[in-house]
Amino acid sequence: MTLRDHIITRIRTEGPLRLDDYFGTCLLHPQWGYYTTRDPFGAAGDFTTAPEISQMFGELIGLSLAQKWLDDGAPARFTLAELGPGRGTLMADLLRACAQVPGFLEAAQVHLIEASPALQKVQANTLETHQVTWIAQMSDLPDQPLYLIANEFFDALPVRQFVRDGARWRERQIGLQGDQLAFGLGPAQPQPALAARLHDTKDGDLVEICGALAPILSEITARIGTQGGAALIVDYGDWRTLGDTLQAVRNHAPADPLADPGAADLTAHVDFEAMATAAAPCAHSRVTPQGVFLERLGITQRAQQLAQNLTGSALDNHIAAHRRLTHPQEMGNLFKVIAVYPPQTAPPPGLEP
Ligand code: SAH
Repeated sequence: MTLRDHIITRIRTEGPLRLDDYFGTCLLHPQWGYYTTRDPFGAAGDFTTAPEISQMFGELIGLSLAQKWLDDGAPARFTLAELGPGRGTLMADLLRACAQVPGFLEAAQVHLIEASPALQKVQANTLETHQVTWIAQMSDLPDQPLYLIANEFFDALPVRQFVRDGARWRERQIGLQGDQLAFGLGPAQPQPALAARLHDTKDGDLVEICGALAPILSEITARIGTQGGAALIVDYGDWRTLGDTLQAVRNHAPADPLADPGAADLTAHVDFEAMATAAAPCAHSRVTPQGVFLERLGITQRAQQLAQNLTGSALDNHIAAHRRLTHPQEMGNLFKVIAVYPPQTAPPPGLEP
């Protein structure tokens, strides 16, 4: 039995699946899910994320959060949380850099939210010299100031897709054509959640909704809004998405999302407008390109400092990593950063209100 067989059996008995059901099953099925069964990162894997490109990414994110913590009066006990920590590399780089900030590590209680048992093991290994706690759901976050980071987490949350049909919408589904998985459309129905999108779309346009986004943001804002703190969210996407952004990636190349369920990474662009709306009543920063954010935090100075100890191919790789993280034609513009923080306080350094 494979995940494909399992999905086909489900479609034969239950009918076509919603895209978010298919997407979530492919990524996190307990037995055959993409993340549940593997460590997908790096050259030998399927894709490379910013923390895996250079230690500078986690260091600068950490120092931005630590400065916000100082600006907030250095609360004596707080949650330092990461959503979807991957290999734990970002958190390790963050903790190493923030050891320079007096009192920060002593006050921090590190909490990780990770759905994949395979990646939890990798994180435990990477962070073995630190005390960290894994929590199963956001509601388990302690009720205290919260400083949170999420890099390429929200793009892994399943989306639904709707195609406009007059004033109604047809939901994109996964069904069968013969014995092959195939996309289809459900019947045209009103979608009250998409009322606002009737103003900026026309017949045939496709829009996406990420159902898990608002509940996660509300757990974050419930703590930040009352106890203080900040969330730094980095992901690819833009202010309001339009069109099909579902993407499958395997071996660093685009793949067919239906070809081999559970064998490719699936993502969808993050809708930063939906994020900003869900952040209320907390304030949110401007959505800022990753390259601009990292330059403001001094990545070039840090890169020059690290370069002093490097020669040959290590130096070449380091220069390429700096460029990859910041250049507008690489990750610099595609990836965006937004912060959520209490009203009447300033955003973390690198971002503007
Ligand atoms: N932040 C890491 C990894 C990004 S990949 C990095 O930048 O390298 C997405 C991560 O989120 C993986 O660790 C994946 O297992 C985790 N993940 C995906 N969906 C999740 C969910 N619903 N709940 C918790 N973790 C999830």
